[in-house]
Amino acid sequence: MPVPEPNGFGSDPPEDRRASAGSRLRDGLRPLRSLRSRVTVDVHAHTSYSDGSGIPLMVDAAEAAGIDAVGFADHCSLSQAWRDERLLWNRNFDRTYARRREALSAVADRTDLTLYDAVEMDYEPELEGRIRDFLDEAGFDYAVGSVHYVAGKQVFPFESFADASEAERRAFVDDYYDAVVSLVESELFDVLAHADLVENHPALHGLTTAAHRERVAAACADSPTVPEINAGRAGDRGEFDLFHPTRPFFEAFRDRGVRFVVGTDSHDPEDFADRVPRLERYLDETGVEPIGTEELLSGSGDGSPVATERGPSGPSEAS
Ligand SMILES: [Zn+2]
Ligand SMILES: [Zn+2]
Repeated sequence: MPVPEPNGFGSDPPEDRRASAGSRLRDGLRPLRSLRSRVTVDVHAHTSYSDGSGIPLMVDAAEAAGIDAVGFADHCSLSQAWRDERLLWNRNFDRTYARRREALSAVADRTDLTLYDAVEMDYEPELEGRIRDFLDEAGFDYAVGSVHYVAGKQVFPFESFADASEAERRAFVDDYYDAVVSLVESELFDVLAHADLVENHPALHGLTTAAHRERVAAACADSPTVPEINAGRAGDRGEFDLFHPTRPFFEAFRDRGVRFVVGTDSHDPEDFADRVPRLERYLDETGVEPIGTEELLSGSGDGSPVATERGPSGPSEAS
């Protein structure tokens, strides 16, 4: 049987075929990418400008995963509380975003991917004024809003709730959803990240109520802020192998006609190859058609992806 050679992969040695998992051929079938029509844009990935991996590694891996566009949304916080800690790790993105923008321009001519210059902004209601000023000044392609901190506590599993009573944990979850609703109503953000992040915390899992879901879904139905289907805790990388929003939450959004974008929340290069197919299956099962970037960007930033801006340059530029 003749070996088909679309895209030239038929002549690659076996190791190279393994390396290009996103375009691998199987038994003469067309490349996998052509079957993955639903996930074309990943709106949520990180780089070493926050807690992700280096830009060249992330760009190559996103391209190999078969998507057309990726938005880098590095963590950014304007709160003083964690400022010194972030400084130690060179993760104060409010001060480094211009450098990352320059880096994305430099890498844009090395990839077929469309790259977006985005941000994952920590939202706290009392910081709204400063966040608005910062986003206006920075002019990202789009902004993702996240509630990661509530009343001095982190929503992540490394925050211990060991001494908290059930009433205190329920109160924390109430406060978390108050902040999420406030985030959506602020209309500062294009995307609401991982709406039910508390569900990934072992001490908070299962405490989201129908009333919480209804409030957030109603707020999104009334706001330009679009919730994200987030694969960052799917598979064995999270505590529970779940997508945000979890299924009942997803249904609450859908009941109100709310649409979605999708994000892998990739921090390491290998996350793309793992999570893009997971998102594909999720979208196939639910029949969701994510919002395209044109529609997402129509109300924000300058609405255009990162373009190659540098002129001809040699390796000496890196010195
Ligand atoms: Zn996040
Ligand atoms: Zn993230």
